[in-house]
Amino acid sequence: MSASASEPIESHYVEVALPVPLRKLFTYDVPSQLRGTLKPGSRVAVSFSRRKLAGFVVGGRDDLPEGVSRALPVAGLLESEPVFTPELLRFLDQAAKYYMHPLGEVLRAAAPALPSGAMRRLRKDGFLDATENLPGQRVAHHRTWKVTTTGKAPSSMRLGARQKKLMDRFTDRDSILLEDLRGEVDDPRAVVRSLKEKGLLEFEEVEAIRDPFFRIPVARDEPHAPTAAQQIAIDTVVEALAKRSGQAFLIHGVTGSGKTEVYLRAIDEVRKAGRGAILLVPEIALTPQLVGRFRARFGDDIAVLHSGLTARQRDDAWQALHKGRVQVAIGARSALFAPVADLGLIVVDEEHDPSFKQDEGFRYQARDMALLRARYAGAVCVLGSATPSVETYHRANQGLIGLLSLPTRATGATMPEVEIVDLRRHRIGPTGHPLVSGPLFAALGRCLENGHQGIIFLNRRGFAPSLRCASCGVVAECPACSVALTEHRGQGALRCHYCDFHRAVAVPCAGCGSTEFKRLGVGTEQLQKAVEESFPKACVARLDRDTASGDGVERVLDRLRSGEVDVLVGTQMVTKGHDIAGVTLVGVALADQSLAFPDFRAAERTFQLLAQVAGRAGRADSPGEVILQTYQPDHPAVRLAAQHDYESFYAEEIRERQEVGYPPFARLVSVRVHAGAEDDARDATQALADTARRHQAVKDGAVQVLGPAPAPLVRLRGRYHYRLLLKSPQRKLLRNVAAHIAARIEAGLPPAHATLDIDPL
Ligand code: ADP
Ligand code: ZN
Ligand code: ZN
Repeated sequence: MSASASEPIESHYVEVALPVPLRKLFTYDVPSQLRGTLKPGSRVAVSFSRRKLAGFVVGGRDDLPEGVSRALPVAGLLESEPVFTPELLRFLDQAAKYYMHPLGEVLRAAAPALPSGAMRRLRKDGFLDATENLPGQRVAHHRTWKVTTTGKAPSSMRLGARQKKLMDRFTDRDSILLEDLRGEVDDPRAVVRSLKEKGLLEFEEVEAIRDPFFRIPVARDEPHAPTAAQQIAIDTVVEALAKRSGQAFLIHGVTGSGKTEVYLRAIDEVRKAGRGAILLVPEIALTPQLVGRFRARFGDDIAVLHSGLTARQRDDAWQALHKGRVQVAIGARSALFAPVADLGLIVVDEEHDPSFKQDEGFRYQARDMALLRARYAGAVCVLGSATPSVETYHRANQGLIGLLSLPTRATGATMPEVEIVDLRRHRIGPTGHPLVSGPLFAALGRCLENGHQGIIFLNRRGFAPSLRCASCGVVAECPACSVALTEHRGQGALRCHYCDFHRAVAVPCAGCGSTEFKRLGVGTEQLQKAVEESFPKACVARLDRDTASGDGVERVLDRLRSGEVDVLVGTQMVTKGHDIAGVTLVGVALADQSLAFPDFRAAERTFQLLAQVAGRAGRADSPGEVILQTYQPDHPAVRLAAQHDYESFYAEEIRERQEVGYPPFARLVSVRVHAGAEDDARDATQALADTARRHQAVKDGAVQVLGPAPAPLVRLRGRYHYRLLLKSPQRKLLRNVAAHIAARIEAGLPPAHATLDIDPL
């Protein structure tokens, strides 16, 4: 394959990757009318066991594979341009091999959705009807005006009401797109023209992407002179960019240390060199502020890939990146597959975040794959975090990736004081609510009196995590999943957090018919009520999955930013990068919840959550304060997060991982099996365990096989789930055993289904 553009395939046959659960390619004949039109990465329609499937051309071949006497013809070409560049195709092939997943399914997961009806519009000659609708030929951008202020003060000039109103939009920014002025004044085009005549505005025609993200107004970009630590990080990354050596770095910088500024400058260098960059963030919906900073610096030279895009918008963005018209892609984990032309840099912000792991279908870890893609593309990979994952920090300590430290806040602000409140001693607070302890009540009271704002975090949404029958003790459970239902009082419903089951609260107990229930535990809804009752004059808002549908997140954060909201209560959605100057107090209502998970990463997750939430306080000039309520004040994750002491936490954690032989000292492969009946799931898992145990590496004890064991949620969405865990410090041997299991899975285990999860979380 060539390095930049795909060359047409001239051979007789092509190899096609299909979205079927088989790790092999399929050979098809190229009919004469399609000869010379297919390229590696082209999406084609083919017949496969009497169905028509969309697959991807991977390469050409002159003969049929051995033992195959006849090949079906390619039925048609679905898009005029290849979906994948050679660089992306090569990387995805490696990714498929690493995860032992069929290439066709990987490619389907990475490609934009096929335009609807494309299959039906395929003509007999193998081409599409209405070719003007092919994505490769669509107009990706629409033309609009970019309106810029000339910076001349209009004080002496007489302006009309519409002109004044429009000029007001430029008080905190230099340029605006014409469509963002619509709704502001009538006929903005005419008003802009009149202001240009007065010499106050300039405009130029530009191409802009249709994207709701681009509606959010952008503040003026005011880059700071880098601190010494930032400068070292910038210089190091820029030097690596020039070398095209595929180097990787961890930027370990405390919250507010100015990591984003380092990303911005590195990406700017990449753009100046005419190359492209990808920025991966944990949850794009939570980062409009971050996107705003990138737009302020780079204008419209970014494509924001998020789930709110229509198929058309996604396609626009894909094409713009593919053609190199737009150089920077920003998005959540799937932006890893963005077809950025001449990729120079991938940045993974908050690299420790668990949302980078895709947990269904093609299961991949976007941070790990970012390292792989960068290496293959000769691009630099930068991972950034205040609380790096244990694996990444270990890699940096071993010198496998470079370590760049930003040890202090860029603004010179100090890290907030954290007070640990021992809930075993404090019990019920002064207002009668167990989660508003005396110290939290006092601190929040002081904060509000000073006109500041507070954030209180609780890792559980809903009102009460479960309801127990007051007479027989039965807990209300989901009929399809083995979990307790959560009370959501605002909706008057009990909901399952794993499937969409919900029912009215007022249903008699399944065990005895009683209608009296006791609430166990608390959720954000109840916490909000408790804070409201403790501070009746305060405006208390809530941010969690229940309140944040659509643009709900932005609305709530806007109300906090504008000062309308005094206290924001919420789940981990409140812990992510919001930089709000008025917030001086951060409370953690209950630090222990994430420690209770039966997972070797529970302590790490807890430390990360607490350290991140503590970093939200006092980022501007007023010092921050953090109140951390817990039943386990001596737990290292709690104690060290309170001291902002990542190094000590890491030292403790890595020692423990080594002792018990968990990652990064061993690798894991999880085998997930599910079936409609519990016996079937267990038997299939046992069959796979037997397959593994016949392998020499397992007999030797080099690879451990744990299980079959029921999954933490045996029953989920009405199906039964079992697990097998493979564990070994020797990667090669572990992969050998996993490959045997993968082959056994491909042979079929009806009625059960099984999948591999390489490096499970
Ligand atoms: P991080 O991404 O590490 O949490 P940010 O990049 O958001 O940190 O920076 C935190 C704050 O510090 C922001 O308000 C930013 O404008 C400011 N900042 C960044 N770099 C500098 C600098 N060199 N001098 C002064 N302020 C800075
Ligand atoms: Zn009962
Ligand atoms: Zn359920």
